[in-house]
Parts: sequence; structure tokens; C-alpha cells
Amino acid sequence: MKIAIIGASIAGLTAATLLKQDHQLTIYEQNPDALKNQGAGIVIPVELFNALLEQNILNNNILAIGIIKRSIIANENNHEKLICEQNLVARALHWQTLYAQLKTNISNALIKPKKIVHIKEIQDEENYDLIIGADGHHSIIAKTICNTMAPLYAGYIAWRGTVPLVECISPEIFGSITESTVPYFVYPNGHCLMYLVVEPDTDQILINWVLYEKRTEASLQNVLSMNKDAHQYRTLARGQMDTEQKKYLHEMSSVLPKIAHEIIMHTSEPFIQPVYTRVAPHRINAQGNTILIGDAASTLPPHTASGATKGMTDALQITAAINNNGLEGIKEWAMMRQLDDQKLLGLSNRMKDFLVMNTPDWSTMTALKFAEIWSKVIAGESWYTSNTSEK
Ligand SMILES: Cc1cc2nc3c(=O)[nH]c(=O)nc-3n(C[C@H](O)[C@H](O)[C@H](O)COP(=O)(O)OP(=O)(O)OC[C@H]3O[C@@H](n4cnc5c(N)ncnc54)[C@H](O)[C@@H]3O)c2cc1C
Repeated sequence: MKIAIIGASIAGLTAATLLKQDHQLTIYEQNPDALKNQGAGIVIPVELFNALLEQNILNNNILAIGIIKRSIIANENNHEKLICEQNLVARALHWQTLYAQLKTNISNALIKPKKIVHIKEIQDEENYDLIIGADGHHSIIAKTICNTMAPLYAGYIAWRGTVPLVECISPEIFGSITESTVPYFVYPNGHCLMYLVVEPDTDQILINWVLYEKRTEASLQNVLSMNKDAHQYRTLARGQMDTEQKKYLHEMSSVLPKIAHEIIMHTSEPFIQPVYTRVAPHRINAQGNTILIGDAASTLPPHTASGATKGMTDALQITAAINNNGLEGIKEWAMMRQLDDQKLLGLSNRMKDFLVMNTPDWSTMTALKFAEIWSKVIAGESWYTSNTSEK
């Protein structure tokens, strides 16, 4: 088949790696060299990680941290009060590490540096059998095949950053790099989770932290006034935060136990991501020759840690579907995947509700109560905490 992929990031590069053997590919990417100082941590399931190694999509010596559990921790007089621990089996990578490895699979000759402004440009340019929209949250391809897909403000923002583990006052809270723990510091307006990743250039172990803060859309202008476009506030990148914003972050995060607060205070270049959600009503166009994968299809509340997983799983699944049954296989895949999208949206909304928007009284929370609520949140779905076997 003659295939065009729009977007050469996690989803697009994984799809390209798998499809390049048997198909004629062209990849369009608006920003083929944008790597420096980008990204932070990414978490993926062990099963997916192993499948990527087996298929030589990732290299065996990739720098990944083994996660085996998470601890739910409240603040009691500035100290940690452990509510409970849960199995949480996963691998954590630096975004740059994952991106750079995927990029080495693809020859530069396959990538056309071009920003696609309308799908017609490529439809008219070449006679493609299939167009794959892997162009992320602001997807042009999604806009074309779904008419419009306005992002919805989710009601909260993520303050983020990385700090060298050696600067942490109690590094033992994270365990070891092969069997690490993810602390979730809970508070009334959200939570702050932290996990280890390896910095690709230096091999230094970093603490990657994400502090969710509930706030109204109107109040976004107080923290992101310079970063608004027509539809939504944009991410405030590393190095752009001014002293007032940092001061606010430092004061606000004093609600967390001292260890978490100190890590945030030590972060030299924190950044902010406002959380927006959008889900494509369908993954395929009426003609059955244009599909959406990865963030182009949906951006969900981040608590399921499914961004990279979804994009790479899509890539694996569409390759199998194309190789089994061509465009017919793709149509079947798109219908099936639509159901997965709805289930994942439900799960991430329940997590968002419990852990950010309508948090319980953490001061009276017990391990038993947490387990009861958590089983309702999970509602029989499979997620990182369901996996007790493989580590
Ligand atoms: C620079 C960068 C850093 C990131 N860092 C993190 C991180 O630290 N942690 C995390 O969890 N997630 C991060 N993400 C998001 C993460 O990659 C996605 O959530 C997930 O992995 C799915 O990836 P994707 O390939 O579907 O979308 P994305 O990673 O968003 O990639 C979309 C790609 O399409 C290209 N593109 C978009 N529009 C056009 C167009 N019109 N024409 C041509 N090309 C276009 C973009 O330049 C980009 O390369 C980052 C994304 C980027 C682009």
C-alpha cells in the first residue's frame, strides 16, 4: 500500500517502524528536529514495553526504570502519612529517550519536513491508499474527518518539573531503579505524583513530578495569561515561568508533606500544562482511507497514563489489521478501537474525579476505604494497578 503518516512523534514513528517493511511510506512532520529540552517522563505497561523490545522497535539497552508499586501519602503536620500501597507495575522512560530511539528506526529520507495545513494538500499531491493522522492533540486530520473537535478544559492544570534524585532529602521513598515506588501525595485540590526517569544525555536519575491543581477556567489567566490562542491556553514551557508564578507554586505546594515540597522548591525550570480533553467521535472517515491514531484520536485526562501507550498500541494494532486484511481490516479496527476509547475515557474521568475534582477527606482516609473507592473507580477495567504478576 502507499501510505502517508502525518506526524513523526511517538505514534507516527512507531507506526512507521512497523509499516516500512511492507509498504511505501511518506511521513510528513512539521518539526523534524525539535528534541532539545523537550518532554519529561512517560510511563508504559510492562507488556507493551516487552512487545516493543521483542519486535525490535525499542533497543534492549534502552534506559528505563522499573516501577512495582505506588504509595498514597497524605500530609499530617508537614510529614508523610502513608494511607496505603498498591501494586503498580510499569516502566518509566524519559520522553526524549523514547522519541530518540523511535527516530533511529526511520531513515530521514522517509520524513518530509512539512506542516500540513489541510488534508487536501497531500490527497492532491499523491494518490495514497491510506492516510494516517498521527498529528497529536491539535490534529488537522481529526478536524478534517470529524468536522470539528474543540478541546474541553478539564478543570485543572499540571505543574511539572524534574529534579536530580541526589538533591532529594529522602531518596529512599522512591526505592531502587529496578523496583521503584511512585508516591502520590494527595491534598484537597488534587495530588502530586513523582517517579524516577533517566536523563538521556547524562544518565542521571531524575525525579519527574506532576502536581495537579484544580482551578476554574477564568483563573487560568492568572497563571497562563501569555499563553492563550483562539481555543485554549497553551503549555508554559521550561524556562518561561516568571518569579510571580514560581512564588505561587512554592506557596501552593507547601500544602504537601515537606519531602514533596522540597523537591518542587529545588526545581530550577518548572513548567505548566493546562489539561484539556477531546475525543474523536470516530477514528475513520466515511471512505475508509483516513484514520486517526495516538493523541490525534483523543487526549484524555492524564491519570490513566495512557498517552504513549495508546499511540504505540494503535500502531501495533493497525499494522496487524492492514497486514491481515488491508483496508477492510482497518475499518474493523476503527470500530473496535472506538469502544476502547469510550472505556478509557470513562476510567480516566473516574480517576480525575476521585484524585482531583472531588477528592475525599484525606485526613480520615484509611487503607480499607481507599481500596473500596478504588475498586469502584477501576470498575473491572484492567489498569497498571491490576497487574500483580509480571514485574
Ligand atoms: C515535543 C513533545 C514532548 C512531549 N513530552 C511528553 C512528556 O514528557 N510526557 C508525556 O506523557 N507526553 C509527552 N508528549 C506527548 C506524547 O508524545 C503523546 O501524549 C503521546 O505519546 C502520543 O503521541 P502522538 O505521537 O500521538 O502525539 P504527539 O507526541 O503530540 O505528536 C504529534 C506529532 O505531529 C506533528 N504534527 C502536528 N501537526 C502537524 C501538521 N499539521 N503537519 C505535520 N506535522 C504535524 C507534531 O510536530 C508532532 O511531532 C510530548 C509530545 C511532544 C510533541
